[in-house]
Amino acid sequence: MILPELSFMGMAGKTLLLVSKNPAFLGNIENHFARHGIGVARASGAKDGFVKASAGNVDAIICSYSLPEMTAPMFLDLLGAQRKTRDIPALVIGSMAEELIAKKTVIRGGWLDEGASQKEIIARVESIFLEKSMLDSGPGKVMAVDDSPIALKKFEQILKQHGYEYMAVLDPNLALDTVASFKPDLILMDQNMPNISGFDLTRRIHTQRGMEGIKIVMVTSDQKNETVVKALECGVVDFLTKPFDDEILLARMRAHISNKKLFDNLAKAYSQMEKLNRKLETISITDGLTGLYNHRKFVEELVFEQGKAQASGEPLSLVLVDIDHFKKINDTYGHLAGDEALRGLSKLMKKVLAERGCAARYGGEEFAVILPSMEIGQAADVAEELRTAVEKAEFETGNAKMKTSISLGVGALTEEMTTDQLIAAADKALYQSKINGRNRVTCA
Ligand SMILES: [Mg+2]
Repeated sequence: MILPELSFMGMAGKTLLLVSKNPAFLGNIENHFARHGIGVARASGAKDGFVKASAGNVDAIICSYSLPEMTAPMFLDLLGAQRKTRDIPALVIGSMAEELIAKKTVIRGGWLDEGASQKEIIARVESIFLEKSMLDSGPGKVMAVDDSPIALKKFEQILKQHGYEYMAVLDPNLALDTVASFKPDLILMDQNMPNISGFDLTRRIHTQRGMEGIKIVMVTSDQKNETVVKALECGVVDFLTKPFDDEILLARMRAHISNKKLFDNLAKAYSQMEKLNRKLETISITDGLTGLYNHRKFVEELVFEQGKAQASGEPLSLVLVDIDHFKKINDTYGHLAGDEALRGLSKLMKKVLAERGCAARYGGEEFAVILPSMEIGQAADVAEELRTAVEKAEFETGNAKMKTSISLGVGALTEEMTTDQLIAAADKALYQSKINGRNRVTCA
């Protein structure tokens, strides 16, 4: 399993400022971040760092404890006193003794021992960026569904004051459409409403595709225990009774929204990882040059088909194919032309075979074709089709067209035969084709 490291957190385009008198400070880290589209700037000391951070565009700082002009905590105090720089998280790297001195200061971004591994530093920077991107994206989007205009006005007043994007829905029948267009992180849901209850609306929202993760907090004047229980059973994440305390409402919303954002980030990372794994899976079974199955996948397929054939009593055949005088192609036209011939031939074989069997690149200029459900006679016919198709074809070699031919050996699975024995039988037949003058099909 391969983790997509930083890329999933949307950090491309961010800038990290390294502040240290040592110009080689965290030298290797620079490449790691560059690969993920994160810019790295350097400053040689507190003064230089302060100037660069003040110029804007710095998203996080890593600095050594000892800087030429002052210690890191003093440097951070300096940044903290300025509106433009006070929110930049900074990670400080120093010795244990220095950490004891620095303990009195709150360091936004944290402390790492100077012996920390590169992996630890990267992980820490990742979480700093993640936290920051959650902060940068604002407190969140909140929608309220309530049939009382007074309640909606009250929500609006609190939420707008605290920087939330807010959407009021007075008619619960419009709630689903508004959720779809506004895409809230959290919904404040009334319970008693005309036509539909808050319970039903919660259920309905959560069964919509893409709306499963929206946090719903029920805010109602009904404080009966059974109402609370039913609300939680319907999928609301929290329950508040009217009249509520503003601070408690805000604190609960913050907790649920940050939870949701973390989960969304994880989900994004997971889907990227799955995509990557599928890509890796394809790469691991494919021959890079020809796009056919590679040798490893060929063996896997053959073992599978052999098992199937021996269980069902169905026949199974194998054809081994070798390009005649391939060395001469390489020598005459060059290796690039040879590669092109291999690609052209693979394409042609795939086309001739269609759905009847699968072709793999067995080795350099050797191919293998598995033909399930075919007796040796039928397989020989397919082999002959392949042979004539290649004989007739012209292959591109950059500037010239080129003709070639193939030799083939056909083997069929008999009872008790292993896959190795089947390969050996086809290989022996191929060898016969070669010594009998090439460009021909021989059956084992
Ligand atoms: Mg109501």
